[in-house]
Parts: sequence; structure tokens; C-alpha cells
Amino acid sequence: MEFAAFADRAAAIEAESADLEIVSLLAETFREAGPELPIVARFVQGRVFPAWRSATLDIGPSLCYEAIARAAGRNVDAADVESRLAETGEIGAVAASYEFGGQQGLAAFGAGGAADLTVTEVDETLRALAAAAGSGSQDRKVDTLFGLFNRASPDEARYLARIVLSEMRIGVGEGAVRDAVAEAFEVPAESVERALQVSNDYGHVAEVARDDGVGGLDAMGLEVGRPVQAMLAQAGSVTDALDEWEEAAVETKYDGARVQIHRRTDGVEGGSGDNGDGGDDGDNGDDAESDAVSVFSRNMEDVTDALPEIVEFVERSVDVPAIFDGEVVAVDDGGDPLPFQEVLRRFRRKHDVARMREEVSLRLHAFDCLHADGDDLLTEPLVTRHDRLADVVDDDAAVSTLLRSNDADEIAAFEADALDAGHEGIMLKDPESTYSPGNRGKHWLKRKPDVETLDLVVTGAEWGEGRRAQFLGTFLLSARDEDGQYRTLGKVATGITDEQLAELTERLEPEIISQDGRDVELRPSTVFEVGYEEIQTSPTYSSGYALRFPRFLSVREDKTPADADTLSRVERLAERQ
Ligand code: AMP
Repeated sequence: MEFAAFADRAAAIEAESADLEIVSLLAETFREAGPELPIVARFVQGRVFPAWRSATLDIGPSLCYEAIARAAGRNVDAADVESRLAETGEIGAVAASYEFGGQQGLAAFGAGGAADLTVTEVDETLRALAAAAGSGSQDRKVDTLFGLFNRASPDEARYLARIVLSEMRIGVGEGAVRDAVAEAFEVPAESVERALQVSNDYGHVAEVARDDGVGGLDAMGLEVGRPVQAMLAQAGSVTDALDEWEEAAVETKYDGARVQIHRRTDGVEGGSGDNGDGGDDGDNGDDAESDAVSVFSRNMEDVTDALPEIVEFVERSVDVPAIFDGEVVAVDDGGDPLPFQEVLRRFRRKHDVARMREEVSLRLHAFDCLHADGDDLLTEPLVTRHDRLADVVDDDAAVSTLLRSNDADEIAAFEADALDAGHEGIMLKDPESTYSPGNRGKHWLKRKPDVETLDLVVTGAEWGEGRRAQFLGTFLLSARDEDGQYRTLGKVATGITDEQLAELTERLEPEIISQDGRDVELRPSTVFEVGYEEIQTSPTYSSGYALRFPRFLSVREDKTPADADTLSRVERLAERQ
């Protein structure tokens, strides 16, 4: 495909505003792209490399301005380009505003002399340019880019400049590419979506959809060495989790940096069904890295070189091909976690890695497994993936402990332990959920930290049952209204140790005013500090509010009922939520 034809297509798409029209123009472009389909499918999004590759063109705006200025002729310099940019606000328009081609004698800098540009040639030239490094490479980049611009028509220059700066801006998002591939090659959009999730390469997916149809797409698997987008969490509460699922899978939330680790073992290709071609669509160097261990950040950036002890650990402890998720945490000499900022001193570091390794120690906590020994696990339930993780990583201390529970007290105790050990809190996960790459869904909840605590007066209690029959167990909490009347807003039973129950019983028994079955009414004497997840309006209690998931934190020995929080503070907090 000539680059001029691509530019025409891009201009037509840019001029269109209706989503459906954009998709059908895009589909037409894909159908016509021929062997250059993979490149075209990336170019329409302003990409040269597939999303999973860390490689970038590494061409800063000023380098691009200089190449444009040079191609525009003797009287134009980079400052002129910048002042036009200030006027138009967009590099494509600036590039299209010059008359290029006056420098024919110098066009030999571009491969292929003065012939028309093709999509393949632009792609190859930009890739070669990305690989240029070392002294003089910046000058060579300007020369090469100049060679391209010098042969470009105004429309070609517009889209060339935008691809170079990764700002395509023709209104084509990921969803449009997905729908256009589906429309162009008559395959289901869901299959395209799934194939994109496992490969992160629109070019390859478009080609497979065209050449092998839905069967080819569905057979695409993960490939060890190619990162997948990370599954993400949203904020949520224990009540949300237990309302939604039969039980929750509870894990420590580690305060570090997310990593996705890819382990290759000699002679074993990862991935299933991708027939080992690695999604390679030509000799373009998009093969997955062949290192034995690669570590990627949450944004699929390759951070392997910065984390040598993690690499060594994985080499030692994992001996089958695997892809797994985890958190890398900085620890002190005693192995206790250090604040998140400490990890950042190590992450992405390119220099002084060995020295920093001495200064900041790292520990890996693996918590999910996407691929193990030839099996893709994305569609397996979380608990199965976690079991496979424990099988694959030969070091229990490096694998998260997963508690399955439907008991808020048990979860609270797990959280207290996590906090005591210096971690950030807990994650609540749906045990049956599949792994959805890139998705911030409701299957993973990071428990919201407690809102402001309340100091409430104990106005009633219930005797316990069984082993705890001689202790008061559940405590009724109240706040005073404007008239000084106590209004109830919840009961707390969670977060109190047996020892505290005994002490509280001894202290409150003399305050019992009346008793009805196991329920007792108490003279207001004692103030509890309680945490909770939310204040809800509720007809159950006389205040009209109820605390969700209240937890006992302490007895406020320094406060009398007169100093406790009032109903109006409760109302204010409820409004602020
Ligand atoms: P946030 O960055 O606040 O959205 O929280 C989600 C992040 O918590 C994830 O991307 C991980 O980096 C991190 N995290 C820590 N521990 C876990 C865990 N056990 N499961 C999942 N994510 C975790």
C-alpha cells in the first residue's frame, strides 16, 4: 500500500464524526491493506510497535521539528516550525503547511530514493530509527526523518508527523479497531477482543482474523515473554464483597510495585495454540524477548534489568514456563515492609543497579498465575489460578496467603494481622472470577481505608452464647441528639478480644438497668471508639442511621458520655460520604 493511499484513508476517517461510519471506513481500509494490514492496523492508532513492546521511537518533538524544518527548505528553521505549531496547535497541520521536496538532491538519505513512499518503507525506516543508539544517533535520526518528510506530500507529511510523535488523532480508539476488524473479516467482536487481550497486538490480531478467521483468533494464546495488561482493582468494602459473593478470597494488599513475571525454560515455548510463530508478521523483530526471566511493570514496560534479585529468585524457584502476577516490596533488614517510595528507588533504574541493590532490598509476593507449564489460565477461576501459582513457585513465603471466608470477623482479624505486619491492608477477590486483563472491575476490591472513626456511647448489650454465655458480647451504640436523648445507630461485636470481653463485662455489668432475655439496657457510662465502612440511612435504629461493618477499636477512657460524638456529627459525616 502506498503511504499516500494510507494518508487519504486517514484523512477520510478524520473527517468523519459518526462512530459507525468511522468503523466502516476503517474496515474498508483493513480489507484493502493487503500484506501491510498489520502495519496499517497499528498506524491508524499512531503506533509503530505493538502495545506489548517496550520499544518506543524515542523521537522527541524537537528532533521532529528539525527534520520538518530541513525538508521545508533553506529559509525554514526549527523555531519557525514551533511558531507555526503555536498557531495551529497540532504537528500534523504544521507538517502539511510546508511545501516539501525541494531538497531532492538530498533525498538519498531516505531509503529508496525519490520513489513514492510505501507503508512498509515508512514502517521499516521508523523501526530502524528506533533501534539507532549511541553517539551521533540523534543526528542520524534527524537525517533519516528528513529523508521521509522530503518525499512526502502535504497529506502524507501530516500523518507521518503524527505517527512519529504517536499522536494520530483521527478518532480511532481501541474499540473502533476491534469493531472494524470484526466487520472487515466477519468475525465476532468478542473473539477479536479476547485475542487482543492475550496478544496486545492489533496488527497480528487483524491478520489472524483475515487469514484464519474466528478459529485462528480463538486459538491464540498467551506467549511467555510478551506482557499482558494487568487486571486491576476498584475500591470496595467487606460488605460489598459478602453481599456479592458467597465467600471472599482475601489477601494481604502489599504496598509496592506491580510486576508481571515471565519465566521461560530452555527449549519450551510458552503459549498455547499460537503455533509458535509468536505473532510475528514478518521480519520486524517483534518476537518476544528470549531471556529466561522477564519482568514487566503494570504498564507492560520491561523492568527486568532493574530487579536482578527478583530475576535470580525466579530462576531458582520456578522451573516451568509461567506467567505470574505479583507485588515487589522494599523490606528492611528484618524483612519488614518499607514504604512504597523505597521500591521506586529501584524500579525502572538503568544505572547503579548493583549499588542500589545493596541499599534497598526487595521481596516478591506473587498472587496470581496467568500461565503455567503450557496451560493458559485466564479463564480459570481465581482459586484454581492461585493453586497453580503455589505449585509453580517453589517457595511458599513468596506466594500470597489466600483466605476464603464469609465471616466479617475472620476477615477483620486477617486485616488486623496484615496491618500489624506493616502492609497496606487487604484485597477482596471473587474466588470464581476469571482474569480480565486491563479491567478495573468489581471482581477485585481493595478495601477502602476506614472513614473517620466515631466515639459512641454504649447504651445496651447482649449476653453471649455458648462458650461466651457469661460475657456481654454485642454492644449497642448511641449518639446524643440535640435534646440530649440517646439515639441508637448500630451494634458492635467485631474486633473485641476475649480478654477485652471479660474486662468490658466486669465494667458494664453494674450499669445494667433492665434485662429482657439476652438483651440488657445499660446506663450510659462508657465510650467506644468505632470504625465502620459507611453510614447508611436505616429504619432499624432510632437515629435513622446504621453503621455498616462497625468495628471496636478502643474504649475512650478519656471521654465521658458528654464528650462523645453527637447525632449531628453523624449526620454531617453521612452527608459527606
Ligand atoms: P491500586 O494501585 O490502589 O489501584 O491497587 C491495586 C494494586 O494493588 C495492584 O495493581 C497491585 O499493584 C497492588 N496489590 C498489592 N497486593 C495485591 C494483591 N494481593 N492482589 C492484587 N493486587 C495487589
